[in-house]
Amino acid sequence: MDLIARSEAPLIARPLYALPVGHRWGRRPGLTLIGDATHLISPFAGEGANLAMLDGAELAQAIVADGDDIEAALASYEAAMLPRSERAASYTGAGLDMRFNDQALRPLVDFFQSVRSGVEA
Ligand SMILES: Cc1cc2nc3c(=O)[nH]c(=O)nc-3n(C[C@H](O)[C@H](O)[C@H](O)COP(=O)(O)OP(=O)(O)OC[C@H]3O[C@@H](n4cnc5c(N)ncnc54)[C@H](O)[C@@H]3O)c2cc1C
Repeated sequence: MDLIARSEAPLIARPLYALPVGHRWGRRPGLTLIGDATHLISPFAGEGANLAMLDGAELAQAIVADGDDIEAALASYEAAMLPRSERAASYTGAGLDMRFNDQALRPLVDFFQSVRSGVEA
């Protein structure tokens, strides 16, 4: 709290955007998406950049494996990527709810205390 109260710079409220959990689109020939363009999520799981890099790596692998059939490559990439990003969107949504709720930060403090108890046990 002191860090914010004693800060000399003005507070800038920045909006956070996220696509709905489970957001999907129909297959378009020759086209797919990676990273935030596919699965924009709030930053409360620390997963967005990790997902983006994994998407890029797996898309490259799929194209190498199915190089003669680009539609098969894109379909196999999306078959793994879409459920994975949906799982990440679900738990980052839970992280968002933990921080922004009518009990202020209490659920977040409880979470860290439960992690600490687990480490000490
Ligand atoms: C506050 C915050 C904290 C985060 N913390 C973490 C974390 O701890 N761990 C983690 O893994 N992720 C984290 N993320 C998420 C992570 O930053 C993103 O998921 C990641 O940057 C997505 O990469 P990307 O390449 O898909 O998109 P971006 O990084 O958004 O890159 C897209 C690029 O395309 C450019 N662009 C857009 N439109 C055009 C156009 N028309 N023509 C040309 N260029 C264009 C943009 O300028 C941008 O450079 C955080 C995000 C935020 C906001």
